[in-house]
Amino acid sequence: MKTVYKWLISTAVVFGLSACDEVQTPDIDEMLTSDESADNAGDALQISDIKFSDDNKEMYLSARLLHDIGDYDIMDSTHVVIKPHQQIQMLPGKFGDEIQPVITKIKNPSREVLKNMDLKLLIMVDLSLPQHQVDAELHAVRDINTLLGQQGVYIAFMQGENVSETYEASDYVIDHYFVHHDPSYTYLYRSILTKLDEFMDPQTTIGNAHRKVLVVMSGGKTYENDLPVDPQHFAIQQQLTNKTTELKNKLCAYYVNFSANTQSDNDLMALTEDTDDSNIMQFFCKDLGGIYQPTFNWQEMETDMMSDFNIDPAKYEITLENPDGKIYRGTLHKLEIGLYDKKTNDLVAKGTTTFTLGTIYNPVIIHDETMIQIITGGIVLLIIVFLLAWLILQFIEPFIRYQLFKRKHVISYSGSKMSVNGLEVAESCYLCKAPFETGDEIVVKCKHTMHKACWDENEYHCPEHGRHCKEGSHYYNKHNLLDGSNPLYLMKWVLVAIISAFVAWCVFINQDYAQSKSLIQSIHSFYHELTSTTDEKGSLSFVYGSYLSDLPAFGQTVGFMITFFLSFFTVRRRKWLLRLSEMVLRAFLAGLAGCLSCLFGCMVAVILHIETNTFLIDWIPWLLLSIVIMLAVTIKTRTPIRRTFFVASCSIALLSMLMWGFIFFNNTLNYRLSLLIGFIVYAVAIAICIARETPRSERYFLHVEGAIKEMDIALYKWLRNETDRVVTIGKSVDCSIQLSWDINGKAAPVQAEIKKYKNSLRLTALEEGVIVNNKPLEPGKETWLYHGKKFTIGNTTFTYIEKDIS
Ligand SMILES: [Zn+2]
Ligand SMILES: [Zn+2]
Repeated sequence: MKTVYKWLISTAVVFGLSACDEVQTPDIDEMLTSDESADNAGDALQISDIKFSDDNKEMYLSARLLHDIGDYDIMDSTHVVIKPHQQIQMLPGKFGDEIQPVITKIKNPSREVLKNMDLKLLIMVDLSLPQHQVDAELHAVRDINTLLGQQGVYIAFMQGENVSETYEASDYVIDHYFVHHDPSYTYLYRSILTKLDEFMDPQTTIGNAHRKVLVVMSGGKTYENDLPVDPQHFAIQQQLTNKTTELKNKLCAYYVNFSANTQSDNDLMALTEDTDDSNIMQFFCKDLGGIYQPTFNWQEMETDMMSDFNIDPAKYEITLENPDGKIYRGTLHKLEIGLYDKKTNDLVAKGTTTFTLGTIYNPVIIHDETMIQIITGGIVLLIIVFLLAWLILQFIEPFIRYQLFKRKHVISYSGSKMSVNGLEVAESCYLCKAPFETGDEIVVKCKHTMHKACWDENEYHCPEHGRHCKEGSHYYNKHNLLDGSNPLYLMKWVLVAIISAFVAWCVFINQDYAQSKSLIQSIHSFYHELTSTTDEKGSLSFVYGSYLSDLPAFGQTVGFMITFFLSFFTVRRRKWLLRLSEMVLRAFLAGLAGCLSCLFGCMVAVILHIETNTFLIDWIPWLLLSIVIMLAVTIKTRTPIRRTFFVASCSIALLSMLMWGFIFFNNTLNYRLSLLIGFIVYAVAIAICIARETPRSERYFLHVEGAIKEMDIALYKWLRNETDRVVTIGKSVDCSIQLSWDINGKAAPVQAEIKKYKNSLRLTALEEGVIVNNKPLEPGKETWLYHGKKFTIGNTTFTYIEKDIS
């Protein structure tokens, strides 16, 4: 008995110490890698949103480039590598590597949106500029073309007094039309006005678009020798101004001064701006929601266009794929997306986000097995564990015990005056009375030395085995190894506990945790309502909620199932329906109390602000749960409630916690099957603790006091082999126990009878006059006999005594 506890406690302590050791000395290297690197690339990428597909296989990230990363383009897979790095939080602030997801897709939705947008963009190109500037215009057109992929881009050429018709920006046009022409001036305003009219006419190619953009590329020269180039300059300028007002919000315009490109000198630039009408064009662009560019800057223009269209060009959508079988247990995960130069492997940009998924008791497993596969796996494991336990308890353990018994207590007789452990060995067999001969195999387990053959014949115990000879027994039927008395009485408890764990496991993994979840969340928010006013409530609630939400369901299921199955041994009722009802009632109460104990554990976690690694305090609900189960199984039964239950519960809880921790951090284990093993260990440990305290009436006596000398009547001798036999008590000579000594007492010929039912005895009154607990037991009524129970017939008091076999 004590050795089991000692073993449990010492194992728990050893495990505990080794676990603590691990916890207190974190790997320095790992600590360093978890630190944020301080380089500029660190915050270039902002990951704002993380979403999961329904099966959690795919993760969708919304990432945004916060600042320029030079020539690198996220979409350019020939120069850039994007790598995910996912880590799991082991302890607050400490992250460890885990199985990595794979990036399957990177998308820049802005380009998609633009392509799908009904957009027409007209570029007006000034061919009156010198050829090198026309070439510069050509480059700019090519840049703009990348945005829409030619679709929706149009070109018109300005030259002299004319503006050309509107061409599609085809490769042919781009390759052949960008040639300087004389004269070297343009009627800029007039040309723009013409095209604006075209934009407003829904009959034209560019007029029927939903969104319209005009980009004017020109030298901007509207004056020649202080005289306007266009004779109608002022009238046209006025028209243009009017038109601009009219077109507000209908068109977006940009102007790029290409003559300024070549004039690096500031004075010249100022001069140019003075002599041309850059002011007019600046107002023009400003009014039409575009920009005036003294030099071409595509990035600036693109960004401005995108923001006009409410598109974020720096936003990317990254799709990652989780490997099958990956487990998320509600712990904090850190996902870092790093952009690396393909050649040098230098970090260009990175972004980090954190998330949680699943819960510790109900994890998310990527592409998990189907429920049928899981249950099948569980059944296979159950059969293996069950058979293993049965083999060990039925054959191996009794065999080993028998070998130890033989080595210690079976010796060869070596002649008279032989002594064992300082005691002289008798010279003849206690049972058959024949004198021992040298070489005889004798049993010296008690002072009643016997032939081994006589011992076996007498059912493996000495004839005096009972109240006055406690040692004289060691049951081992080697002729029939299936003999139910060979294994320890614990066997049936262990086997039933294994089954109860399996059933609890099946129910638990099939459960819907919604109620449990909302309960925890409301407790959490209620608590924080009382204690804090900060807005961290929401996020914290999520963390705790996802972490602890399944705990009450766990307590309820485990409490109910283990109690139901184990109370099969403690609940004694003759009618099976009554017995079943009582078992269900006990189980129900245990489920309720189990749920409450787990809730209590959750509250402790919330109050102590334990956000991660709640398994470290999980021993509290487990401890309470095991106590609840032990009480529910034993209360108001023959099994006394012992203080050892509490000690044992502590050990069980610690042991389970350590096992849980092991499962938790081990990614290679099959999570659900490990969980089943965890359930089994828990249930078996509880079963053994209760079984230890449950009386095993293999040696039961009636202690008689009254008109005769006190004595013990060995009831078990009547009932040991003939279980259906009835022991009768009365004055008649036919009674098993004849009250011949009680001459004056009032006793009927057959007053009462004792029957064996399973492993317990029942006393039934047949006539009036049987007093139990100072109350008369009515004829026909019966009562269970348990250790220490007294009843009186006439002047004789009987005490029922059970003596366990040691
Ligand atoms: Zn003998
Ligand atoms: Zn004996």
